[in-house]
Amino acid sequence: MVQKKDIACPTCGKKNTWMPDNRFRPFCSERCKLIDLGDWASEKHRVAGELVKSEEDSDEDDHV
Ligand SMILES: [Zn+2]
Repeated sequence: MVQKKDIACPTCGKKNTWMPDNRFRPFCSERCKLIDLGDWASEKHRVAGELVKSEEDSDEDDHV
């Protein structure tokens, strides 16, 4: 018996069927799988580029 399940592709949201012989599951196609991976990669890239922290905490002792 073949196990089939209705799922939605995480990338495009298209309804598709989970089939044991679909090697791109849970994506509907290789394309959507690659898009998802690309998204993840670009997100990392963006975060790394935006990480500009100004740590200019002049913590001088102002005891009078
Ligand atoms: Zn898709």
